[in-house]
This record gives sequence, C-alpha cells and structure tokens, in this order.
Amino acid sequence: MNKSIVIIGAGLSGLYLGYLLKKAGFTIKILEANDRIGGRIFTKKTHDTSVELGATWLWKYNKDLMDLCQELKLTLFEQDMDGEALFEATAAHTVQRFKLPAHQEISYRIAGGTVALLEQLTAHFSEDELLLNATVNTIKEQDNTIEVITAHSTFIADSVVSTIPPQLLVHSIDFPVALDTELVHVANNCHTWMKDSIKFAVVYNTPFWEKKGLSGTGFSHVGPFTEIYDHSDFTDKRFALMGFLNGNLATETKAQRELLVKTQLLKFFGDDGENYLSYEEKVWSQAPLTTTATDTYLTPHANNGHLIFQKAYLNGKFIVAGSETSPSYGGYMEGAIYRGHQIALQLKRQFL
Ligand SMILES: Cc1cc2nc3c(=O)[nH]c(=O)nc-3n(C[C@H](O)[C@H](O)[C@H](O)COP(=O)(O)OP(=O)(O)OC[C@H]3O[C@@H](n4cnc5c(N)ncnc54)[C@H](O)[C@@H]3O)c2cc1C
Repeated sequence: MNKSIVIIGAGLSGLYLGYLLKKAGFTIKILEANDRIGGRIFTKKTHDTSVELGATWLWKYNKDLMDLCQELKLTLFEQDMDGEALFEATAAHTVQRFKLPAHQEISYRIAGGTVALLEQLTAHFSEDELLLNATVNTIKEQDNTIEVITAHSTFIADSVVSTIPPQLLVHSIDFPVALDTELVHVANNCHTWMKDSIKFAVVYNTPFWEKKGLSGTGFSHVGPFTEIYDHSDFTDKRFALMGFLNGNLATETKAQRELLVKTQLLKFFGDDGENYLSYEEKVWSQAPLTTTATDTYLTPHANNGHLIFQKAYLNGKFIVAGSETSPSYGGYMEGAIYRGHQIALQLKRQFL
C-alpha cells in the first residue's frame, strides 16, 4: 500500500497508533521532540528500582487498555492498600489513623513500571521509524502531500497525526496554511490532564509503614503532599512511597520542596519516614513538551473529546489526536488507546 503517515509525539498515543498502523501496512514515522519516549508516562530508575513520576494506575473499566496489556503479555498487580491510612486535617492537629472503606475500586499497576507498556510497543519499530530529539516546528500542506518540518529535516507524508496535547499543539507548531479557527479555539481551551501536578517519590530500604499497621496511604489538607501511597515494586523487594504535592509549590526550588516533604514524612511516619534513600520529583507545569504557559483557567477535562477533533483538517491530511481528543476517558491512558483505535480505523477507511 505504501501510504505514509507521520505521527508527532512518542507518548502512549503516538506509539500505540504507530503500532496499529504498522500492523495495517502503512509506512510510519514517529517524531518525538524529547530524548526519551513516553511523554506523560515517565518511569524513573533510581536505587535499583523505578518510580512513576507520570501515569501509574489503570482500572478494570479501562477496557481497551486492559485488553492491550493482555495482548502485550504484561503483568498487572494491585495497588497495595492493606493497613490503615493517615489523615492530616489541619496543621494544628496530629495526624489521624483511619480504616480505608472496604470494596473500593481496585487500581492496578504494571509490573516493571508503566514504561513496560511503551517498551513492548516500541519493540515493533525499526530504528528509522521512531526518531527522538526531533522537534516538529511547522506543518505545511502541499498539493497531494503534507510536510512536517523539524530543525534538521523535512518529512513528506500522505497524512499527519499530531498526538501533542491540543492546547500545546496550537501554541507550539506553525501552520503556514492556517488551521480552522474553531478548531484552534477549542484546542486552546482543551484541558491537558495533570498538567499542573507535581509528583514525588521516596525510596526506602524497608517497608517500615507495614510494621506500624499502615498501608502507606495518606491524605493531607495541609501539604506539601496532599496524597501519598505505597509504591513498592511488583517483586516486593524494593520499597517506596509516591504522592502528589500541592501545585503551588511549583515556584519553589527542588531543595525547598524536598525539605518540606521530609518534614511532613517525619510528621506522618516518624523517624523512618525521613530516612529515605532517594527523593525524585517531576513538576509537570514546567514541562515544555506537555504544557504551555497560558492565563486561561480550564476546568479539568474541559473540551476533552470535543466533536471537532473527529474531523480531519488541511483537506483531510491532518488529524489532531492524543488522549485529550478521545470521546472516551479523555486525558487518561485509556483515552490514548481508545482514540488510537478510532484514528487507525479512519485512516484505513481513507486509504484502503
Ligand atoms: C503526573 C501524572 C499522573 C498521571 N496518572 C495517570 C494514571 O494514573 N492513570 C492514567 O490513566 N493516566 C494518568 N495520567 C495521564 C496519562 O499520562 C496520559 O493520558 C497519557 O500518557 C497521554 O498520552 P499521549 O501520548 O496522549 O500524550 P503525551 O504523553 O503528552 O505525549 C505527547 C508527546 O508529544 C511530544 N511532543 C510535544 N511537542 C512535540 C513536538 N513539537 N514535536 C515532536 N514531539 C512533541 C512530547 O514530548 C510527548 O512525548 C497521568 C499524567 C500525569 C502527568
């Protein structure tokens, strides 16, 4: 068939779409600006283990994602919630213990880290099908083709699919033949899930919280961390806690944030809490390949899955994809997979 598709972005959306299109017989090229794959999936290796600074959990109702994990023979394991949880209501009060309600929806994690999902997909591509350090800056329609331009090369394709979060897309890529103004307006007001979050993880020699009858789960109205969970690995030989920090701390330095977390860990877990092996964090509001500085406040998931993303643009040669454009579970990993199926079907109908 030899129809060529350029995919912009090697996050879950780009890699999954590449996997589907290659299987269907298209010639594909995935262009990724970063020096790593994954986008908002970011499994960081540290102290003989790995911690998730991006996406972590999936749930039974994420049907397409669950099916994909099975197809790729990935092992899933339950988020450990055994034991009591902690709650800090105000700075003046001591941290309280409480029993977590029974029969909660189970959250699952992927053995080897969320990155294992990406590694399985990437294994299907040859070296020249997936390029890192390739920042797309311009998309230009030609008569029968479409050009994708980076600092060093121009790629010519029959069709281009962007998987960059829509709001970032319209702020960072130049379109000499202007995009539909309504599409630009909606993209500009399309919320990028978790763009303001700060995630942290601390690695320990032992799961000391278990000996105290604690699950590692905690919630705080005070901060700096607002939520914390057990983050020990699948083998249960490497131990960690992982959580979310108050987004306002993005303006502090890493050293200041770590100091605040250490103090709160001491308050929550005693001396063991502050004796960690390593502290890792990711401030997503400062990730230029995920988000862009705008003054507009958007409610979470605003315009995710908007109907306008269902159409193709630039005379059918350009498609806006990515998890946020999915009508089902937009913003989540499940959205990336659902939307991948939609687009693969759309391109097959168009070209086959
Ligand atoms: C902290 C955090 C926690 C999360 N937790 C969960 C969770 O537990 N469960 C869940 O289901 N979801 C979670 N999510 C959401 C999940 O990560 C996303 O839904 C999913 O990873 C989105 O994938 P994507 O490929 O659509 O977008 P992205 O992962 O954002 O990928 C876009 C890619 O495009 C690249 N790019 C950007 N600009 C350019 C350019 N100009 N040229 C080339 N490439 C470019 C980026 O580098 C990136 O690799 C979380 C997200 C974050 C940030």
